[in-house]
Amino acid sequence: MKLTHLALRSYRNYEQVAVDFSPHINILIGENAQGKTNLLEAIYVLALARSHRTNNDRELIQFGADFARISGTVTRASGDSLLELIISTQGKRARVDRLEQPKLSQYLGRLNVVLFAPEDLAIVKGSPANRRRFIDMEFGQMSAKYLYNLTQYRTMLRQRNAYLRQLKFHQAKDRVFLDVLSDQLAAFGAEIVTARTALLAKMATYASTIHGDITKDREALSFSYQSQVPEAARGDTEAAYAALGELFASHQAREIEQGTTLVGPHRDDVVFLVNGKNVANFGSQGQQRTTALAVKLAEIDLMKAQTGEYPVLLLDDVLSELDDARQTHLLKAIQNKVQTFLTTTSLDGIAQELIDSPAVFRVQAGA
Ligand code: ATP
Ligand code: MG
Repeated sequence: MKLTHLALRSYRNYEQVAVDFSPHINILIGENAQGKTNLLEAIYVLALARSHRTNNDRELIQFGADFARISGTVTRASGDSLLELIISTQGKRARVDRLEQPKLSQYLGRLNVVLFAPEDLAIVKGSPANRRRFIDMEFGQMSAKYLYNLTQYRTMLRQRNAYLRQLKFHQAKDRVFLDVLSDQLAAFGAEIVTARTALLAKMATYASTIHGDITKDREALSFSYQSQVPEAARGDTEAAYAALGELFASHQAREIEQGTTLVGPHRDDVVFLVNGKNVANFGSQGQQRTTALAVKLAEIDLMKAQTGEYPVLLLDDVLSELDDARQTHLLKAIQNKVQTFLTTTSLDGIAQELIDSPAVFRVQAGA
């Protein structure tokens, strides 16, 4: 899929802008603090209805304005569609082809993006929460069902935690109601665990091929999915449901004591192994970088496999950070397939010979 047109109104430092993009490579060039990342962020927000940089939507609205608007034309094999997102202090409204979408879940999934920014090294090195967020954002884009189960799981988790606190402080006594909440949490949790198992396995296959190609002596990258659900039960929803039920039962006393849910997929993690060793602990900077790049590139292939279309790739300040070999690999992987937006302060250090007739946009003070 391609984003062929984008219009912004009162978005960050853009008062008003409308641009047509190339279906291939778009280079956004400009000095610091001119609005390059803001533009990539706007594309990301148009796709996912949330920013990768902040949880506070108000920050997206231009200082002094009441609302921000992002609209874009997405061209897919099945035709064009016009996406619109209006962010106000009251909340978000989404439209597709001018039709209001009462639920964001109906809006999402129409524009798929993969973003790669320097912070993405956090996928490898950062906390489990970083990796869960990454997994959920990606898998949620690929599968409406995953997103649904995740949203339901989070709602149930909040309710269950609130109820555990009530039990802890003796404001509630009814253990039967706790069982009902546990049962529902186990049901949604089981869907998440089985989906993660399947999608991570596919992603690992793509990532390991890419990683083997980038590294000189074909180092082997593998993923290890860490979940409290035993490995034997992860492939099957019924088995995962039963396993989660047992986990909730065996942790109940401690959960009431601590007033929070201690087990479940909200505690999952994934470890990246290079030649069998956790690259977060034992890998060099370069190995961590290559792992992050391989994982990101694998996302592109996985999205194509799951949705039938390549996503749009957003590269914020990363190209100049990669050495020649990694740049070459990245540019070859996307050539003529994946619409790409990349930001940079300078074309120095970028292998321009690998970029076929890019569209170049100069970004200056929100214009
Ligand atoms: P760099 O090369 O340093 O990464 P950049 O071109 O990517 O720079 P952006 O992050 O896109 O820069 O833009 C930053 C600018 O946007 C800052 O000057 C900031 O003050 C401005 N900005 C951020 N949020 C808002 C807002 N809500 N309203 C107006 N301006 C904003
Ligand atoms: Mg920037």
